[in-house]
Amino acid sequence: MPFAFPDIEGRRMTLAVEAAPQGMAENIDLNTKKPSLLGLTRAGLAEALRAIDTPEREIRMRVAQLWHWIYFQGAQNFDVMLNVSKVMRQKLAENYSLTRPQVVEEQVSVDGTRKWLIRMAPVDALDKGAEVECVYIPESDRGTLCVSSQVGCTLNCTFCHTGTQKLVRNLTTQEIVAQLVVAREMLGDFPGLTPPDNGLIPSGEGARAVSNIVFMGMGEPLYNFENVRDAVEILSDGDGLSLSKRRITVSTSGVVPEIERLGLESGAALAISLHAVRDELRNKLVPLNKKYPIQELMQACRDYPGASNARRITFEYVMLKGVNDSPAEARELVRLLKGVPAKINLIPFNPWPGAPYECSDWETIEKFSDIVFNAGYASPVRTPRGRDILAACGQLKSETEKLRARARLAAELE
Ligand code: SAH
Ligand code: SF4
Repeated sequence: MPFAFPDIEGRRMTLAVEAAPQGMAENIDLNTKKPSLLGLTRAGLAEALRAIDTPEREIRMRVAQLWHWIYFQGAQNFDVMLNVSKVMRQKLAENYSLTRPQVVEEQVSVDGTRKWLIRMAPVDALDKGAEVECVYIPESDRGTLCVSSQVGCTLNCTFCHTGTQKLVRNLTTQEIVAQLVVAREMLGDFPGLTPPDNGLIPSGEGARAVSNIVFMGMGEPLYNFENVRDAVEILSDGDGLSLSKRRITVSTSGVVPEIERLGLESGAALAISLHAVRDELRNKLVPLNKKYPIQELMQACRDYPGASNARRITFEYVMLKGVNDSPAEARELVRLLKGVPAKINLIPFNPWPGAPYECSDWETIEKFSDIVFNAGYASPVRTPRGRDILAACGQLKSETEKLRARARLAAELE
């Protein structure tokens, strides 16, 4: 679910969908001026090793060592890398860091949902560091992490708080990957760490604290294609973070030209934010529909490489009272999805201050859901989670900002 836009006060931001500059300069620890190696691809690590004159014949082995320590062990410094020679460890520490984004706020719901406000490393001395929210949803058999792909979003979906914001920058591959690393640290889920005692984290044999990732936080992942694709590679690498690609879902509002590419180059699962069955209404709810109307979107889904009954495309449908929630629309939805290996997720609308919509009544959602269920789509309603800590998405961010503003005011009045 998307979140409120971070405070942009005094912040240097790039406009629109232009990719943020790639490379290590993005993640420099401004205190030490050392670039962080966390979140780099194998190629990125090799480059970093070459830059400190590592002999070519050692590169492969060194990359494998670093990979294991950074992504499997969750190492936070080079000292712990005991199978790396002392000289090499020193050289790494002299030139690089393993700096991660900072958790500046945590909220824990009674149902175990956790919401973190994560501050990315500043890109320069003027930058305070972009903040994004990351949500962890534990269930008995899985733990899902909802990550962001951009700071803000350029698409103006009318029901989405992120969509009301104008300034946007892409997150780097490093910043996307770091969200999982930071989440696992907060959950005590790396060797040597202890899980929090109030944690309702999946346990038992083979259970993993985070087993699933959904790109359903801030931003349009397909407008940040390369970084998202590379992040998926790192997240799913069997020698490191080791998530199954089938359990990584990229959600798009319908960037048709990039959908095929996602299937060909990534193999992550696909989710489509449909929300309406007619172009007229979808044009209003998801304005990108004017560019890529429903028929084109559905064709891209039918052509999606790798979709099958075992690998279904998820269709998200946010329930907006009196807008898109009639039985006729439920039937039309079923008709529209014929011939597409599909799953349906009905999402109760998450209200935010000033939102022009309300969530459909429970009865209406049930009726809609029954029609969809009777057509063979199981368990379609996504239960609202963590309502006590985020009545509206983005609340942690806005609450934190409110408290900060109040503290500033109090300090000024003193
Ligand atoms: N930009 C991508 C991914 C982020 S949004 C996309 O649109 O798919 C993730 C999901 O949350 C989308 O399905 C989006 O439509 C939905 N969403 C946005 N605002 C919401 C709200 N206030 N309540 C419920 N779902 C919302
Ligand atoms: Fe929100 Fe739409 Fe952007 Fe998704 S694409 S984050 S729903 S504005």
